[in-house]
Amino acid sequence: MNEKFEKIFIEITNFCGLDCSFCTPKKQAKEIMSLENFDKIIQKISPYTSLCALHILGDPLSIKNLSPYLKIAQSHNLKLEITSSGFYLEDKIDLLLNSPCIHQINISLMSALYQSKTINLEEYFQPILKLCNTHQQLKSEKFINLRLWNLDTNFNPPALNTKIYNLLKQNFLFQEISPLKIRLNYKIFLHQARMFEWANVDSQNLHKKGFCYGGIKQLGILCNGIVVPCCFDAKGAINLGNILEESLKEILLKQRAKALVQGFKNNNLVELLCQSCNYPQYLASKPSCKN
Ligand code: SF4
Ligand code: SF4
Repeated sequence: MNEKFEKIFIEITNFCGLDCSFCTPKKQAKEIMSLENFDKIIQKISPYTSLCALHILGDPLSIKNLSPYLKIAQSHNLKLEITSSGFYLEDKIDLLLNSPCIHQINISLMSALYQSKTINLEEYFQPILKLCNTHQQLKSEKFINLRLWNLDTNFNPPALNTKIYNLLKQNFLFQEISPLKIRLNYKIFLHQARMFEWANVDSQNLHKKGFCYGGIKQLGILCNGIVVPCCFDAKGAINLGNILEESLKEILLKQRAKALVQGFKNNNLVELLCQSCNYPQYLASKPSCKN
């Protein structure tokens, strides 16, 4: 099998039911990828990757009939990552932990901290604790990552994280592996990172030079089948083609995809969205980012 991409992001729904203050690319109409289209897409992409993340915008756990989507992925031997706000976790815990295709479950804790209406954190945490406790009882080998990606530029946490740290300390081991990675229990971690910023094409601060793995090691597929180079392009600004109408090979051979990738290889950011995105700078700050 010719595995080209480390990970392909598939947006099975753009709906999350939340209004995180840091989320800029809000979409108007709720969309759910039909099972038929998901099946078609999985058939087309499975020769190109072994790992999919069911997330770009929206919350995959908000889908009531998630089970058949997981079965389709399983039937193509794909591993899955699930990223969720945690708000729809309650009735999905058994499904997540008992589905062999699920390799990693990410819960974005920030989504409880940045809503216009105040969230009761103890209540919000109950299903998350149940997920983690059941995971331990089952001796599951799946990874659970609780994410707090809201540190400042100096990696300091905001005061509103304190209540979350206290809740985690009350319920887990809380062993610091590094300042940004804390082991909570076997295969359960708290991951911290600087506040995530969406690319903004209206930004005055454009960069024309840089490298990124978008279209090289990663791809995204939106609810409507539009292929984009990465999970940041939630609005399809870099529309490379539609996987429901074309093969992935045809899409990757198109001029727009080839120019994007060739640009990255020459350290040029061809697309406006890439020029306004912080990710190339983040990669440049890491040693050996192209290895
Ligand atoms: S950040 Fe995620 S959970 Fe929050 S509003 Fe945006 S899509 Fe929804
Ligand atoms: S530079 Fe940003 S917008 Fe462009 S492909 Fe990379 S992550 Fe996506």
